Amino acid sequence: MQKIVVTGGKGGTGKSTFAVLLANKFVKENKKVILVDCDIECPNDYLLLGQKLIKSEDRVYAKFPQLDESKCQKCNLCASVCKNNAIFRVPKKYPRFLKELCSGCGACWIVCPYQAIEKRSEEIGKIFLNKINKNFYLFTGLAKPALEETSPIVRETKKFAKSFASKINADYIISDTAAGIHCPVIMALLDNDFAYAVTEPTLMGAYDLDLILTLCKKIGVLTKVVLNQADLGDKKKIFPVLKKFKLEIEKEIPYSKKIAKAYSEGQLLDVFF
Ligand code: SF4
Ligand code: SF4
Repeated sequence: MQKIVVTGGKGGTGKSTFAVLLANKFVKENKKVILVDCDIECPNDYLLLGQKLIKSEDRVYAKFPQLDESKCQKCNLCASVCKNNAIFRVPKKYPRFLKELCSGCGACWIVCPYQAIEKRSEEIGKIFLNKINKNFYLFTGLAKPALEETSPIVRETKKFAKSFASKINADYIISDTAAGIHCPVIMALLDNDFAYAVTEPTLMGAYDLDLILTLCKKIGVLTKVVLNQADLGDKKKIFPVLKKFKLEIEKEIPYSKKIAKAYSEGQLLDVFF
């Protein structure tokens, strides 16, 4: 089973479109394909495939701190280790926990000398499964809004999809990351055979390509570059970045009205790649 991840530092370069078309290309070659939408804060592969997210297959939980005032000695050690500033210290009073800033890292309950911080389990996301056809399955991770840390949802969605892929003997798992270089993107990039970095021939495309290639290099992910809408901008803009990383353009996709129309109508399955 080959594990491929589709990424791109910049949003709107056609990363999800490429991931869906790549998956569909393999399906047309009679391969079994699992597509995993790891853009858990705003997944849209299901829209591109004309699907709906109706009933979740699984839920993702994380642990958050809850103060037991009967045990707390107001020492404020917990606040001093919280890197997220999620614990507000009030002199001579109990610390206050700010849920919106908490990542659930666990540092506070580990350091508390009086075991005054309990772990409260809370749902942070859902995992959906859509069967597109007998050889094509889509897994979608979806985070609850306003969470500080969402990479556990990416991790669990990938784990769930991988176990399903083993059961059906899938040929490919294709993960589609969010844009950017933050933690959920790193989580999606890990444990793959190689990555496609999708970019566009613009100055911003070049800048963000540099960021994502730097990240991939740091975490040891072999990366190939895909240039989308290759005939619309100035290709030369991304040449310095390619030179810096000793890479060439692996695939060029010209602007296509057919793809743009299919994208806007959620009918990418009909497009040949
Ligand atoms: S470390 Fe424990 S005892 Fe100290 S303030 Fe925090 S919760 Fe209370
Ligand atoms: S779990 Fe981590 S982020 Fe949350 S309050 Fe404790 S130390 Fe801060």
